[in-house]
Order: sequence, then C-alpha cells, then structure tokens
Amino acid sequence: MISFQDLDLSNPLRNSIEDLGFINPTPIQEQAFSVVRSGKDVVGIAQTGTGKTFAYMLPILRDLKFSKQQHPRILVLVPTRELVVQVVDEIEKLAKYINLRVLGVYGGVNLNRHKEAVLQGTDIIVATPGRLYDLAISRVLKLKSIQKVVIDEVDVMLDLGFRFQLLNIFELLPVRRQNVMFSATMTEDVEALIDDYFVGPKKIAIAVSGTPLDNIEQVAYNVPNFYTKINLLLELLFDKNEFGKVLIFAPNKRNADRIFNLVEDEFPNQSCVIHSNKTQNYRLRSIEEFNNGNHRILIATDVIARGLDLNEITHVINFNPTQYPENYMHRIGRTGRAERKGKSILFATENEQKVKLAIEELMDYKIPLVEIPEQVVISKELTEEERPSEDRDQSKNRTSQEYVPGPAFHEKKEKNKKVNLGGSYRREIVKKYKKPKTRGDKNYNKRNKKK
Ligand code: AMP
Repeated sequence: MISFQDLDLSNPLRNSIEDLGFINPTPIQEQAFSVVRSGKDVVGIAQTGTGKTFAYMLPILRDLKFSKQQHPRILVLVPTRELVVQVVDEIEKLAKYINLRVLGVYGGVNLNRHKEAVLQGTDIIVATPGRLYDLAISRVLKLKSIQKVVIDEVDVMLDLGFRFQLLNIFELLPVRRQNVMFSATMTEDVEALIDDYFVGPKKIAIAVSGTPLDNIEQVAYNVPNFYTKINLLLELLFDKNEFGKVLIFAPNKRNADRIFNLVEDEFPNQSCVIHSNKTQNYRLRSIEEFNNGNHRILIATDVIARGLDLNEITHVINFNPTQYPENYMHRIGRTGRAERKGKSILFATENEQKVKLAIEELMDYKIPLVEIPEQVVISKELTEEERPSEDRDQSKNRTSQEYVPGPAFHEKKEKNKKVNLGGSYRREIVKKYKKPKTRGDKNYNKRNKKK
C-alpha cells in the first residue's frame, strides 16, 4: 500500500492531507493521480465513499498555478446543490495552504448573487449544469478560459435529465480541454456521452471486490408489508446506542414523508427527511442537523442521497430493495466509508424478493437473513399501493371498513402522554392485548376499547 508521501504532491497539499489525518490514498486516488496529471481525458468508475473527489482534485490542484484572472480555469459539474456544497467544502480543505479561489453555484439562489460572485473572480467553479448555463449565457461567466472539466456523478446527472444542458455547456467550452468524468455505474447513456465528446479516454476503475462492501456488515429481514416494516424499524431505532446515526432509504418521496412522520411520532425531534420536493434550505438544514449529530435519523430517497458526504453513519436501513441493483450498492456505500465498519439492513416483502435476488447476484453475495424479533407487531394494514387494485378503487369513496389509511389518532395521543418509554412500552402493549395490536388499525382499536 502506498502512502501520500509516495505521491508527487506539493508541500501545501501534503500539509493539508496531514491535517485531515489521511495516510494512504484510496485505490482510485492512487490510480487517478498520474492519469489526470497527464492531461488526457479520463473516465473513472467509482462509487461515492471511495474518495473520488480527492482523486480528481489532488492532481488538479497539484498543477494549478496561482493566477489573478477573473474567469475560472477549472469547472466541476455535479448533479445536485448538496453536492456543490460538499465538493466546495472538500476543495477548501485540500487548498487550506494554497492561495486559491473556489466558487459554488447552483439553482434556487438569486442569479444576481451568483453573477456578483463570478465578477469577484474565481479559479475553480463548482456548479449544477442549469445554473452554470444561465451564468454562461448571461455573459457574466466566460467559459473560454476553462482548461479542465470534471463531470462528477454523470450517471445521476443523465438520470436527472441534464443531458441537453451538458451538451449546451460543451458547446461553450474551448475545444482544447481536458475532460475528466466520474460515474458510479456505466450505463448506455454514459457510454454514448463518452463516445461523442471524449478523445481516447483513459479508463480507471476499481474492482468490485475492492469496493466498500468489505467494510459493511449486511443483514436482511423478510417483512410482509409497509406497516410491519415501520414496526420493525421503530423497534430497531429504540436502541439509541446501537443505532447512533442512521440513514434510511425510502423508495420514493411519498414514502419518505410517510416514514418520517411515523418515526417523528415515536421519536420526536430525532429525525429529518430530504427528497427533491423539499426546498433547498430545508435540505441543507436537514443534512446539517444530521451531520452535526442533532438528529440521529435521516430519511432520504436515492437520487438525493447519492453523492452526499454524510459523516460516520452507523447504519443504512433500506426500506426496500432497489429496482436497479447498483443503487443498492450506492446506498450501503454510505456507511463503512473509507476505513470504518458500517452496517446495512434490508427490508423486503414477498413481492420484492425478485429485486433482492438481483442485488445478491450483482454482489455475488447472499445477504444473511435475520428473523423479525418476536415483539414486533405484524400489521395487517396495507398502504394504498399495497392493496389489490379493486380495493384501492373502493377506498377512494371510503366505503371499505377494512382499510383505514394512516395510524389511528387516539393511539398517538395515548402514546404522546408517555415520555421516553423505549421498547418496553410496546412489549407491554403486546402483553396487555395478547393478540398483536395492529398499528393504525382503527377498527381493531375500537373493538378493544368497547370490551
Ligand atoms: P468521496 O468518495 O469523495 O465522497 O469521499 C468519501 C470520504 O472519504 C470523504 O469524507 C473524504 O474526506 C474521505 N477520504 C477521502 N480520501 C481519503 C483517504 N485517502 N483516506 C481516508 N479518508 C479519505
């Protein structure tokens, strides 16, 4: 294993690496260093958590000379606002002893503010494609001075529909430039983009077996439905010492909100949620609250969570197996990052077994199955999506006595009176009612009240 001493770094970079406490470059950092410095086009296949930001930034900063020119020489394009903030942060850490100007720009912020910032002059601009294009066509930002372009998380970018914005930006860039691209997965779209715009790119990739997977302890539960998943989740989360910093992946925005509300009911002020419908401020605040430890639970959707640098996550809980197996790898890669051990938990229903199998095939690893703890109530209640379609139609006009969506209100009130009862409270309830009390089954609760 080589150390940072073995890389041809400058002293200021060595010092900042030392301050960060990093000793060995990660495999992608080791491989990328000389290739990026060579000036050739580079395609790196690496997941988040492999140290890819430094993999491209170290060689770029190594060769970037001091300059007072206004227009940037390095452009870093990333798919989300959060990633802009994070990459700027990483660059600032690395450039602690270098006289360097870095600017991050993204949509949702007043354009004039960014125009003013651009006029101040910058060496590196980190941007989401839309905002960068707006600044470029307003003529405040000139892209002709760009020497190197890094496109990070290209697969996500193309997923989010940024293809045309990327092509528009390419039009404005000088023909002679170095292209560096990082993608976690190689998709047809990514390949097409490389074929059209890259010149004889050098490919660097780290073997699947060398991915953070080795650092992650995985388990899976077979769970019949959404509300049982909730019951299991809450049971697990009761153990605050074990579950110190938990990232929960929800299948979509709607379920993310649902999970968030139910978790907040049980553990007030301990969680936050992010997805693409939340405002930028809300998202940034959520991440901050989670990263600084004010909230121990973050509920997120795939697209928004990918690429975020979240500190020291103890557990990733997958509320569902992902449709695309690679995304599961991205999810669990959020724990056990760099050199720390992490844990991943997967919930899967009967209907989700097929996608779970695809994930196991991709990893060439069978995720060990764990039994649901006895005290976890098996719910009979189904979400609207889980119900057979006939019932779904019925429930629209609320004629069905069988299904009442959402948790029962009086159950919440009763619980709210109790403070910090931990897992034992639920066990008491189970004992008291003997039969499992279904979370949110209003009719069942009514029946029991009358007794
Ligand atoms: P990234 O894949 O760029 O999102 O980086 C993942 C995390 O690993 C970040 O928190 C980095 O600060 C950290 N990191 C990057 N390079 C190293 C390294 N050589 N040794 C230890 N940690 C690192």
